[in-house]
Amino acid sequence: MKDFLSQRITCPHCGNHIHLDIDASMGDQDYIEECSACCNPIHLNMHIDHANKKLELHIDSDNEQIF
Ligand SMILES: [Zn+2]
Repeated sequence: MKDFLSQRITCPHCGNHIHLDIDASMGDQDYIEECSACCNPIHLNMHIDHANKKLELHIDSDNEQIF
């Protein structure tokens, strides 16, 4: 069974599209991915909805004071 999901996210810093391969078998995850375009950290919060077999991905920048 393949649990890898391809997701395309938008960098909250520069708007660049980043391709991610997510391992959904790991369950909920919370991690930082570095943008390949602007090198700023992107905070990813992933929640697996097992009942609906859906993946929720919340993205925000790590610098909430920036604006
Ligand atoms: Zn970026």
